[in-house]
Amino acid sequence: MDIAPIPLLTDNYGYLLIGPCGRRAAIVDCAEVGPVLAETERRGVTLEAILSTHHHYDHVGGNEELARAVPGIRVLGSRADRTRVPALTEALADEEEFEIVGVRGRALFIPAHTSGHLAYFFAGEGPSVFSGDTLFAAGCGRLFEGSPEEMMRSLSKLAALPDSTRIYFGHEYTEKNLAFAHELEPGNPDIAGKLARVRRLRAEGRATTPTTVAEEKLTNPFLRWNSEELRTNVRRRFPDLPNDPIAVFAKTRELKDQY
Ligand SMILES: [Zn+2]
Repeated sequence: MDIAPIPLLTDNYGYLLIGPCGRRAAIVDCAEVGPVLAETERRGVTLEAILSTHHHYDHVGGNEELARAVPGIRVLGSRADRTRVPALTEALADEEEFEIVGVRGRALFIPAHTSGHLAYFFAGEGPSVFSGDTLFAAGCGRLFEGSPEEMMRSLSKLAALPDSTRIYFGHEYTEKNLAFAHELEPGNPDIAGKLARVRRLRAEGRATTPTTVAEEKLTNPFLRWNSEELRTNVRRRFPDLPNDPIAVFAKTRELKDQY
C-alpha cells in the first residue's frame, strides 16, 4: 500500500492510500474535497472509501461533498461516533477488522481527544497507523472529551504497536511540540537531535509526517511520564505535585495547553 500525505486547510493532513494494484484508493480524514480529488486525478486512481478518525470538522468537513461526488463511496468511522461522522456507512468497534483497497486493516479505539476517536492500523511489512488527533509527533491531542488516564491508555495502545510502525498524524505541529519537549527534557539527545532535523525540514517547507513508534517513545513527552528528567522539571514548577505518572501526565498536558 502506498501512502501520500495531502496538506489540507491550514495545518491538517489527509492521507491518500493506494492499494497494491495501483488503482484503488482511499482517503484518511477528508477535511476538504478539492485537493483530494485533484490528487486522485493526478495519480489516476479511483476513490472507494473515506476513513474518518473522529468527528471534528477539520477531519470530516469534506465527507458529505465527497460522498455526493463519488456515489457508492464507503465511509468508515467509529461506532461511538455513528451520529457525528457525516455520511458514515460502516461503524467500526475496537479491534474490528476491515478491508479497503485490497488491504486488511484494524480499527483501534483510542478515546480522550474525543470520546469516539479511532486509529486505523495496517500490519504486515512496514506496518502503519493513522493516529488522527490522538498522537502527534512529540505531542498529543487536547483532552476535549476524556480524562488524562484515558489519554494515557489510548497513547499506550499506540505505543504498544511494533517499534517500526509508521505513525501518520493529523496536524503539522511537530516543530512546536519538540520545542516544548526540549524545555522539559533539555538533556534528552533524541529530542534535541530531532528538533534540529525538523527545523531544517520546516525551513524548506517540508512535511514531518510520518514518525515511528520507536521515535515517539524516545521523544514524545506524553509517552515519557517515567522520564526522571521530565518528572523533575514538571515537579520543580509545581512542588506540590504528587510524584505519580497520572499527575505528571496531566500537568504536562496543562503546561502544553498554555505553551
Ligand atoms: Zn480533533
